[in-house]
Amino acid sequence: MIDAAVEQLLLEDPKSYVIPADIVANVTATNTLEHALMVLSKVGYTRIPVLSADDHLQGLLALSAVTNSLLQVPGAAVDQLSTVTVADVMSPVEHYVDDPRKLEKILNLLVDEPFLPLVDDQMVFQGIITRREILKRVNYLAHNLDRQFEVIPRVADTIDRS
Ligand code: AMP
Repeated sequence: MIDAAVEQLLLEDPKSYVIPADIVANVTATNTLEHALMVLSKVGYTRIPVLSADDHLQGLLALSAVTNSLLQVPGAAVDQLSTVTVADVMSPVEHYVDDPRKLEKILNLLVDEPFLPLVDDQMVFQGIITRREILKRVNYLAHNLDRQFEVIPRVADTIDRS
């Protein structure tokens, strides 16, 4: 369980570590891989969410899935990707959160995931929580914990600052 003081500071402003949906690069399942490759190259990310036309989270698209698809046809050129859709190669969403306040889950999952999609109770995409944004919040915590809480060692002389 997360320490209550730590949780309180991290949760002071949950919105601060959510990148809102309107600025998250995404593709739709019906897009061609040619289009998806353009989006991925432009934004420079290796994995982005796949959304339906009504903004439901449907999957994740990895750059490696696009290049694998290209490499399956010997000598294929990029325009070959216009015959394949995102739906053909996207992966299912294994991990997501429906509440940015579920810190225990978020911190545990972000050990292995670079980002987590955030959805509402209807799976409508709300944004993402990235390792970077959480790390910024943890940085804030590291510098502000003793401004708001009195942190006293349980055993005397346990803090070695050498
Ligand atoms: P970061 O922690 O900023 O390196 O982001 C981790 C991952 O989150 C990136 O590699 C992307 O897969 C994803 N990501 C971050 N920001 C965006 C964004 N604005 N649009 C789409 N995906 C993003």
